[in-house]
Amino acid sequence: MSESEESKPTPPVKRSLSEQLAYLHGEFHAPNYAPSLSLVKGRGAYVWDANGKKYLDFVSGIAVTALGHSHPAIVKAVKRQAGRLMHVSNLYYNDQAPFLAKQLCELAGLGGKVFFCNSGAEANEGLIKLARKWGSEQDRFEVITFRNSFHGRTLATLTATGQEKVQYGFAPLPEGFKYAQYNDLESVKAQLTPKTAAVMLELVQAEGGVVPADPEFVKGLAKLCRERNVLLLVDEIQTGVGRTGTMFAWQGYGIEPDGFSLAKGLGGGFPIGAVMMGPKLKDVFQPGSHGTTFGGQPLGCAAARAVLDTIAEKALDTNAEAMGYMLQSKLKKVVDTYSFVRAVRGKGLLVGLVIDRPAKDLEKILTRRGLLTVCTAGNVIRMLPPLTLTARQVKQAVKIIDKACQEWQAELLNQQGN
Ligand SMILES: *Cc1c(COP(=O)(O)O)cnc(C)c1O
Repeated sequence: MSESEESKPTPPVKRSLSEQLAYLHGEFHAPNYAPSLSLVKGRGAYVWDANGKKYLDFVSGIAVTALGHSHPAIVKAVKRQAGRLMHVSNLYYNDQAPFLAKQLCELAGLGGKVFFCNSGAEANEGLIKLARKWGSEQDRFEVITFRNSFHGRTLATLTATGQEKVQYGFAPLPEGFKYAQYNDLESVKAQLTPKTAAVMLELVQAEGGVVPADPEFVKGLAKLCRERNVLLLVDEIQTGVGRTGTMFAWQGYGIEPDGFSLAKGLGGGFPIGAVMMGPKLKDVFQPGSHGTTFGGQPLGCAAARAVLDTIAEKALDTNAEAMGYMLQSKLKKVVDTYSFVRAVRGKGLLVGLVIDRPAKDLEKILTRRGLLTVCTAGNVIRMLPPLTLTARQVKQAVKIIDKACQEWQAELLNQQGN
């Protein structure tokens, strides 16, 4: 090496933003997530990554950005409230939470009340605590949930979650949970005891593979719960706030739960959760029974009010039903065309494309082609577009899915050939 070469300063390594983010994530974040893209901007149904590539977003932060990204109504409400009053605690009234509470209770029409919290797991934890407190005088404390359900990651909600992979390594788990087979009323009956306080379920098992509950099963379950004086609790974290075509999924099943939980879509991107209570539960929590510092703070409540107002003004629940129907109809053609695509199922804008093998590779092809989806239960491509979805965007997505399947088919044939 010559002297001149040796003394040449090494050029500074210029890392792109996505490289920097991946590096920092690897160094400083607990390794429980494995993010793929670096997303930096969103508008409506679209997001952009750090390299400027545009994607049609059929993930919506996993059913969170219900109105799409940066919807003007939410932006305005949050900006205004942030500049006025962000937080005061539950020692005082604020001028947002009581209005949101009224709005939600009227939408539910159960003659009940609400408790505000901050996340889905926390909302379900609240339902479980309510069930236990309600049942405590009759020594009822058991909660029946379903295999392949998903209810959250706190100790009680991961125990409620009927999936070993979520529970693995966290023993000892809280007592009092039993599991039944989804869409099988006999298996619920088999788990009922005089100690049963509640049955809790999702009306579409979302993480579990986008499996809708059978209407007959749900009606039978509601009747069974009524007869046995057992609470019927619905986890609406993913299905709630218009996604399945009605404001709450249970409204589409013609039943009335004793309690249900909301989070994800409620704040349209701002974290807020709610424990909704019917008449049996509405006065179970008393001063000192339950609480949370951030719950019901005015910023989150202002965001949620903007979400609910916009859904009502624009009839976005009806739009979700119509666009979901269109998406499923168009995807039926994809099912007919590609042998590895088994079925399409779901409700409203919670749609799953069922593949006959692990589907992570297909998700990756879709992403590369500009459509974000999330593979769940190993073999289901789950789609949760914003409730503002248009027919043009449905067509755009289906075109990408068709092309991606074509590409994957060729790849699979190639692999077989080798
Ligand atoms: C996401 C989800 C939860 C957990 O919500 P977090 O906000 O992640 O705690 C619970 N139940 C269902 C059905 C969900 O989809």
